Amino acid sequence: MLASVEIRTVLAMADSPVHNLHWQPKLALSMDCFTCERTGRTTWLTVGAERAVCTGDGRDGQHYSAARIATFDHTDERHQTSLRVVVDYWWAPFHDAKRDIAAAVLTRTPWVRHYLGYRCPQQEESGEFSIKTNLNRPVSQTCQHCSASLCESRDAPQVRLLMDPR
Ligand SMILES: [Zn+2]
Ligand SMILES: [Zn+2]
Repeated sequence: MLASVEIRTVLAMADSPVHNLHWQPKLALSMDCFTCERTGRTTWLTVGAERAVCTGDGRDGQHYSAARIATFDHTDERHQTSLRVVVDYWWAPFHDAKRDIAAAVLTRTPWVRHYLGYRCPQQEESGEFSIKTNLNRPVSQTCQHCSASLCESRDAPQVRLLMDPR
């Protein structure tokens, strides 16, 4: 079946010199993969790519999977930036023999990692960092060049199944 998940992530912006903070057009999302028949696999998705990469089971198990980023929209306001991503994927039921659990359309404990980039106006250098689901919040991020505050993550990304795919 064709399924879609929506990811919503908000970051509070710090009042520091302009660092041109931006969401990088890629993310990692945990998914139940019917191809390698494992639940909670980290899957790499890139905006514009028509397929994703499932990390599979171990180092040699990496393979392409039928998932793509359908929507990748961000809204930037003075004090926060909000990202909304919709991932479309093909899902089929299976049993994860290793964990002895049935697969779910939306994996049991959804996990996402976003990547952000910036450019330091003081040092004229760029940098990047990531924000993921399982962090002790609130967590703040500083510039690796001038130590200015960049943003703060107060709430974990929200991941939910869209029952009515667009
Ligand atoms: Zn897989
Ligand atoms: Zn800086």
